[in-house]
Amino acid sequence: MMEFLKDFQKMGIYLAYNVNVDAIVYLNEKHIESLIKEFGAENIKKRIDEYPREINEPLDFVARLIHTLKTGKPQAVPLVSYEADRWFNSRFKYDFERIGGQVGVIANLLANLDFNKVIAYSPLLGRKQAEMFVNRDNLLYPVVENGRLVLKKPLEAYREDDPVKINRIFEFRAGTKFKLGDETIEVPYSGRFIVACRFEDFARIETSPELKPYLPEIGEMVDGAILSGYQGLRKYYSDGKDANYYLRKAKEDIKLLKKKKDIKIHVEFASIQDRELRKKVIYNIFPLVDSVGMDEAEIAHILSVLGYRELSDRIFTYNRIEDAVLGAKILLDELNLEILQVHTIYYLMYITHDDNPLTEKELMKSLEVGTTLAATRAFLGDIKRPEDVKAGLSIPFNEKGEYVKLRFEEAKAKMRTREYKIVIIPTRLVRNPVSTVGLGDTISAGAFASYLSLLRRKG
Ligand code: AMP
Repeated sequence: MMEFLKDFQKMGIYLAYNVNVDAIVYLNEKHIESLIKEFGAENIKKRIDEYPREINEPLDFVARLIHTLKTGKPQAVPLVSYEADRWFNSRFKYDFERIGGQVGVIANLLANLDFNKVIAYSPLLGRKQAEMFVNRDNLLYPVVENGRLVLKKPLEAYREDDPVKINRIFEFRAGTKFKLGDETIEVPYSGRFIVACRFEDFARIETSPELKPYLPEIGEMVDGAILSGYQGLRKYYSDGKDANYYLRKAKEDIKLLKKKKDIKIHVEFASIQDRELRKKVIYNIFPLVDSVGMDEAEIAHILSVLGYRELSDRIFTYNRIEDAVLGAKILLDELNLEILQVHTIYYLMYITHDDNPLTEKELMKSLEVGTTLAATRAFLGDIKRPEDVKAGLSIPFNEKGEYVKLRFEEAKAKMRTREYKIVIIPTRLVRNPVSTVGLGDTISAGAFASYLSLLRRKG
């Protein structure tokens, strides 16, 4: 681990496209009762029955929130009205705000790990957004000034008029009790209700036309790039553009980044509900990149749109490692990736073709970096400096690990695996995590960065 941390100080990574602000409210009885008083129990009940899929007005929010509190199951509902957006700001005092979005999470992580250079890009950069990045000399935002590419600290680069995407997260605790009319409700489980900001402004996943010509230069400055945020795309936009338009632009970006130097590009995949959009992202983007990271549910989602319905259903239903390995093999081959990384709660997996320059032992070491960073974040809530990873190193690999390894060896023995390198390691699992937000992103960033560092050592 320490060797990797030393390597990281010499490395540069480019990140695009998604950042946002997470505004967190810890809900208590008072909050809930005052909302019920303001909107009226009967009105709320009626709206719960109508079950709004989007938040157009505050009552939609209150209804979905109360419904979530009743079931205790985490929910995310899209917010689509600017007026309601403003209402949230005047109605709630946030307990704290932190950076969100994969670029946001990974940028702060890598900068705090003392990477030489982290270049983080998002099409919009408002002041509040800029303030959420760690203020360090190694975390920079690319701008064009007088026909030249300039890297600036986000605080020196933000645009006052850029809108800021704020996702509101209402955290609730099991046991919270309140009255809805005559009904007394006790929240059965702890969890969160997310009001996910879905305005069109934030769905334009692209590099500004001004910056685009400098992508080859940016590629030259770094060892690799992590791209994410494609899940924010829409099928149609009000100005007549569509997902195809943005995906064509996204493909250009990838080619431009690799134009002067053949850098490795990793895509961090997040779930896309719409099957058609999911398929488009996979077919357009994956074949152009080197590495992809995802969790088990996402493998199943992808297999389903590639036509492997039965295997996909099996992964969803039984969660068996042999199915995950089989699925990973299919993805690696059909999309011709260099490396695929899968993270699950109990194990992490890499699969590559047999000609990958790294040995299986080296690949396992790289996965260990991923889980150690995630355990550190789960344990401390945040990673502020390289020394923090000592906390992660002291978290043991989970007990199911041995069983998982055994099942994995059995699965391998039954399958044709000679043309591949497939490795798994158990995760270091924190029993009472301070936070579980961004752990998947942390695993993927750590695994990809250490993969790059091992490739560098091979020369
Ligand atoms: P995601 O849901 O994509 O953010 O990924 C979550 C991943 O974080 C899981 O697959 C686990 O490997 C890891 N993880 C989840 N909970 C913990 C925990 N308590 N301690 C350490 N790692 C965790």
